[in-house]
Amino acid sequence: MMKKYNFNAGPCILPREVIEKTAAQILDFNGIGLSLAEISHRSKDFQPVIDEAAALVKELLNVPEGYSVLFLGGGASLEFHMIPLNFLEKKAGYLNTGVWAKKAIKEAKMIGEVVEVASSAADNYTYIPKGYEVPTDLDYLHITTNNTIYGTEIHTDPDVPVRLIGDMSSDFLSRPVDVAKYDCIYGGAQKNLSMAGVTFVIVKDDALGKVSRNIPTMLNYKTHVDKGSMFNTPPVVPIYTALETLRWVKKEGGVTAMEKIAKQRADLLYGEIDRNKLFRGTVTDEESRSYMNICFVLNDEYADLQQEFFDFATARGMVGIKGHRDVGGFRASCYNAQTIEGVQALVDTMKEFEANH
Ligand SMILES: *Cc1c(COP(=O)(O)O)cnc(C)c1O
Repeated sequence: MMKKYNFNAGPCILPREVIEKTAAQILDFNGIGLSLAEISHRSKDFQPVIDEAAALVKELLNVPEGYSVLFLGGGASLEFHMIPLNFLEKKAGYLNTGVWAKKAIKEAKMIGEVVEVASSAADNYTYIPKGYEVPTDLDYLHITTNNTIYGTEIHTDPDVPVRLIGDMSSDFLSRPVDVAKYDCIYGGAQKNLSMAGVTFVIVKDDALGKVSRNIPTMLNYKTHVDKGSMFNTPPVVPIYTALETLRWVKKEGGVTAMEKIAKQRADLLYGEIDRNKLFRGTVTDEESRSYMNICFVLNDEYADLQQEFFDFATARGMVGIKGHRDVGGFRASCYNAQTIEGVQALVDTMKEFEANH
């Protein structure tokens, strides 16, 4: 079979060894003669899995004392509602950088007062706003650190006068994070951590319990902190896969190494996009360019080659490079498990296609 290069945006590429180890544990977990999928989450065999996964998140991101790491269901989309329920008392600020940010804003508005501190909506989210003013009376400022659809990214944790909350669904573990600036970091795991089905949350314990409303039990972070993510049955298989990914990240040199490789991949692909006469990047502000989701389109004079390039790349093993419908063109997602070899294969494909035209 032809080698496939997986550029899917999510669910997406995971290290091959993570898939293989998960597959083996699904057949026979720790040699106990039962599948990982058919044992109790409270068993003595599973508890160490979730404990080690939480400990590795803390170790890899250098999480300060006083934070809890949770593995929950519901996806990032449920967090959009849990965040304001748990943290919004008077007023919250949101940075509007795309569809996911807008969905988070919509949920927050059901709970309380929301101010949009800045937005790049008028330019179809092709950059991350800069130099905006953050009111000092906000309960928190919510940011989407990587905008999966548009290929923009906040590469450093902003200095603002209020507490941060970050949707890190699509750049988690791809760079060091100054966790102390955040009351909460969360995301769906299916873009850099695991298969779909588990949501990671890093929450500052003493930031909880500060709002006056009654929070439904399952939507209250305190419930899950107190029960170590075991209030109800957590998604055990995706948590196991997350553990194997975390072990892999550690083995490969941690988040500093992940960031270095991410830059190498991004430089290689953006370099080709900028050089190749057929293509241009959709994110023109260099600082805003995502290392994780790299978006490009055909230049206007070559616009009719869209389908032809897609077919050409598909025939060379590229998978998942079609751009999101809101942006069009192409998107190559280059998450942690993406190899330089994979990106080079795409670059070679672009060069070959250029030579044909
Ligand atoms: C995919 C994605 C989400 C939605 O995640 P679900 O787990 O599917 O709810 C939210 N935010 C960002 C930045 C995403 O990329």
